Amino acid sequence: MNFSVAIDGPAGAGKSTIAKLLSNRFGLMYINTGAMYRTIALKAMNNNIKAEDIEKLCLLTDSLEMHFNSDRLIVNGEDVTDYINDPFISQNVSQYAAIPEIRQRLVKLQQQMSNKYNVVMDGRDIGTVVLKNAAFKFFLTASPEERAKRRFNELIAKGLDVNYDSILSDIIKRDFIDSHREVSPLVKAEDAVELDSSNLTIEQVVDTMANYITTTLNNVSK
Ligand code: C5P
Repeated sequence: MNFSVAIDGPAGAGKSTIAKLLSNRFGLMYINTGAMYRTIALKAMNNNIKAEDIEKLCLLTDSLEMHFNSDRLIVNGEDVTDYINDPFISQNVSQYAAIPEIRQRLVKLQQQMSNKYNVVMDGRDIGTVVLKNAAFKFFLTASPEERAKRRFNELIAKGLDVNYDSILSDIIKRDFIDSHREVSPLVKAEDAVELDSSNLTIEQVVDTMANYITTTLNNVSK
């Protein structure tokens, strides 16, 4: 049986933390698709390529070899993980992620990865586009305020000088762009299990998902 897990949801819902823990529990490869879009934003901004310059962005994307080493993203041999989570990237990534030509390229790469490995993949369009046939699909949400609080604590813990209100407004803005873009907007797949994590701990979310997966697998093998 193909054993792929798709986790979609808005920014800061806890997808990557939870996906990482699930990947350890079930021995799956963790693919953080947001990191791939963040890399395009990082490289584009480093090279002064605007979101309007589709041709240059396509050339740039085609020049990048991306693979994951555990939860680190390696791009053309360089570990970019620490650079792509900067708030400046968060503020700009959605405009690059809305470009159909970029999505087409990254979706293809993500599908190639999932053809090679059993994966847990998180993002915005995994259950609806990238892994339409995933064995398990989850849609993870939380209130914008709770998500901003979590992101704020995470960045403070990393020693960054950040402001709660600007994180909240960034999250609301990103939610809007991600759910209103023409191509692959953020929506719950019809067959995804929805979980609101506002009042749940990380462990409770992981346990709920893991129990669902195990129960379903046990029923299938009966
Ligand atoms: O998941 P993360 O917040 O790191 O994603 C960064 C951005 O990348 C999102 O706000 C969204 O614009 C874009 N993204 C996307 N499709 C995905 C994953 C991320 O459009 N599958």
